[in-house]
Amino acid sequence: MADRESSRRAGRYLRYEMVIVEDGGNLTKTEPRGNSAAVAETEPEIFEVWIDQNLCTGDGLCVQEARDVFEFDLDGLAYVKDPNGDLLTQPGARTVVPAASLDAVLESARRCPGACIHVVRARDGVEVAGPDAGE
Ligand code: SF4
Repeated sequence: MADRESSRRAGRYLRYEMVIVEDGGNLTKTEPRGNSAAVAETEPEIFEVWIDQNLCTGDGLCVQEARDVFEFDLDGLAYVKDPNGDLLTQPGARTVVPAASLDAVLESARRCPGACIHVVRARDGVEVAGPDAGE
């Protein structure tokens, strides 16, 4: 009984816990945990990818690395695919990177001989891998 009661209290404590931060002698109280802002911060990051076909060499590295994201068209150049597997052939077309393929897509962008694969963070458009990334 005592254990159940202490667990219940611990759960309540966690829901309303605030974090106190000491900053040069000043104490700063942050937002309570469990609010919507805190939940939003824990949501997974979404990434998108696009290819500049003007620079694509057609070597196929990306198609081998991440077949669910990249594919050749009849012109011998690589394009991204949407979640249904349809090729997106419009210039600059982006697709969301499936979480399971993120490592392969990042690796493709880093190794792409044409330096033409761009992986960007969806929420702010910052390039995280590719020729315009700050690596
Ligand atoms: S790795 Fe780069 S250059 Fe090679 S096919 Fe893919 S997009 Fe084109």
